[in-house]
Amino acid sequence: MTWRGEATETVVAQADARTAALADRLDGLLARIDAACRAAGREPGSVRLLPVTKFFPAADVAILYGLGRREFGESREQEATAKVAELGDRPDIRWHMIGRLQRNKAKVVARWAHTVHSVDSERLATALDRGAVAALEAGERTEPLRVLLQVSLDEDPERGGVAEDDLDRLADHVAAAEGLQLGGLMAIPPLDAEPHSAFARLATLHTRLLAGHPAATELSAGMSGDLESAIEHGSTVVRVGTALMGTRPITSG
Ligand SMILES: *Cc1c(COP(=O)(O)O)cnc(C)c1O
Repeated sequence: MTWRGEATETVVAQADARTAALADRLDGLLARIDAACRAAGREPGSVRLLPVTKFFPAADVAILYGLGRREFGESREQEATAKVAELGDRPDIRWHMIGRLQRNKAKVVARWAHTVHSVDSERLATALDRGAVAALEAGERTEPLRVLLQVSLDEDPERGGVAEDDLDRLADHVAAAEGLQLGGLMAIPPLDAEPHSAFARLATLHTRLLAGHPAATELSAGMSGDLESAIEHGSTVVRVGTALMGTRPITSG
């Protein structure tokens, strides 16, 4: 007789298999990012990996934490808030909110997010600012909330993002907010477009932003399918889900 029952053995074996699979894909992905940096004539290490763990359980985040990752991207407020509660006692974790965010969720997100990538309106920025100031006063956070402005490269309101013409005004608004820190830009290339031209446009907008806001150095661009192109065009952080975690389960939500 062993002290572990058969069911426990199975669970442990599955967890080991998942750890091995994630470790393997993580290595491959970091090598891919390195290769893309070299191909673009950039310093390897100048681009960070942001694992996107949406739709995957907190147990996977815990495995990646064990493999040394400290930043995680989530796109749905409820799911993220639950994971943060489950894993919140781990030191140095930085949670990134990368998905579309409704104003009525801003207060909750301002409690746990290190960075929000998807700010595309003054109203949302104001709601996040209020939430961040409240969280600072309550001791729930120690630093201002870092904000990236999501730029629309196709003017499709369904996909989110601020129109290019409104970008400068939104940047000034965020920069003036007490509870926020303007970190840079984020974009998702248009669905049917070829990513190169979208990322080139984004790079131009980032250069323009940096002229007025030199500390806004972050450029959040690139996902599983297009990270090489994004890195060629100056991305500083790639948001990768599928290539690391596997195919997301199909859900109704
Ligand atoms: C899900 C998601 C990603 C990751 O996409 P993959 O193609 O799975 O790598 C990146 N950015 C945002 C905003 C997302 O919602």
